[in-house]
Amino acid sequence: MSENEDVVSDDILISVSEYLNQDIKFIRDKTPRFSADPCHCDSCGVELTFLDFVKTAHATDQHSKKFMSDFFEQSKSMKKEFNTVIICGNCQRAVETYVIYQYVNYCPI
Ligand SMILES: [Zn+2]
Repeated sequence: MSENEDVVSDDILISVSEYLNQDIKFIRDKTPRFSADPCHCDSCGVELTFLDFVKTAHATDQHSKKFMSDFFEQSKSMKKEFNTVIICGNCQRAVETYVIYQYVNYCPI
């Protein structure tokens, strides 16, 4: 994996910050990386994004918006890989995916 591969685009980060009502600064500071396999909806073909992933976690009651918003204010880095469903933002299909996501905090503790 190259250094910049899977880094979530700023457009998506802005949408996530609006969705979670969190300051974009905290989210940018985490430099979120995200990949889903498959990376496209198997029904409509639209790309599954970090925003869809965040919205799905909320829609399926895995995490509250506050939990996810607060998370971006913590100073720890983390990486997770697991199978999960992502709800397509376009057609609402629940797609089975293998997700890798990572947050890297560059600020000194
Ligand atoms: Zn779809």
